[in-house]
Amino acid sequence: MRTYFPNLTVLALVVLVVGCDQSGSSDGDADNNGKPVVYATNYPLAYFAERIAGDTAAVRFPEIDGDPAFWRPSDAQVADMQGADLILTNGATYEKWAKTVSLPPKKTVDTSVSFASALIEIKDATTHSHGSEGEHSHAGTAFTTWMDFDQARQQAIAVRDALVKAMPDDKETLNANADALLADLAKLHEDMRSVTTAIGDRPLVASHPVYQYFARQYKLKIESVLWEPETVPTEADVADLKRILKDHPAAWMIWEGEPASESVGLLKGIGVESVIVDPAGNRPDQGDWLSVMKRNIDNLRAVAGRSSN
Ligand SMILES: [Zn+2]
Repeated sequence: MRTYFPNLTVLALVVLVVGCDQSGSSDGDADNNGKPVVYATNYPLAYFAERIAGDTAAVRFPEIDGDPAFWRPSDAQVADMQGADLILTNGATYEKWAKTVSLPPKKTVDTSVSFASALIEIKDATTHSHGSEGEHSHAGTAFTTWMDFDQARQQAIAVRDALVKAMPDDKETLNANADALLADLAKLHEDMRSVTTAIGDRPLVASHPVYQYFARQYKLKIESVLWEPETVPTEADVADLKRILKDHPAAWMIWEGEPASESVGLLKGIGVESVIVDPAGNRPDQGDWLSVMKRNIDNLRAVAGRSSN
């Protein structure tokens, strides 16, 4: 998945947060104004919680350098989470760190539990590294649940229900806000279905194995490699891709983030175009979860070509 090169702003923030932790307080404690604190472990859930809670709760999503799926919370962040009124988790093995951390079960909600029986097991995953994040593997359960927007809808409903339970006095506001979010998700689902129907069964390749639910819901034929947007593939990587293309003649590669221009050029040389479908597991530099998803749909219109309407 995408790795973010820390820029100076991020470094400055890290220094600030570390500084705060050493002086005994942790990030974000100051501004909850007595409101209930809701902690989210990835950006899609934070976005859903922010939309539904409005100003009834303080939603916390930590600054994470890299993919939140491979995050290791600091002791201070764990303490923050344990002190929250509600902890929203993605489930589907997203929170690998949770095995070694005790979260209060009554305050912790697994937002993918309603479709637990439909989770996808990944076979034959190899270990690889994402820049500074160290080695990891995609073995186990596929976790990018929200790229199936019907599953995203179910996760948003789980967030709504958890918020209503935690703040029954705000029920009307929460339900009204949730209805607006659910309408947006329904529209996304419809638009994604329309553009992917136009793509049909044309083979596609993905730069990373994170599109399992997306492919299943929208009936796309996707084979994956293990490339990173900011890393130019080696000759061996390209040879592996060519082997895939023999039986799976894809004309497009889906990237999680803006690929290096050299990678785009290399792919063009073997007849493969590049398109970005960003799962936005982490907070984007610009816009929000919804605007990133709308851009993904727009990007896919190029893959669908003129036949899409
Ligand atoms: Zn990976």
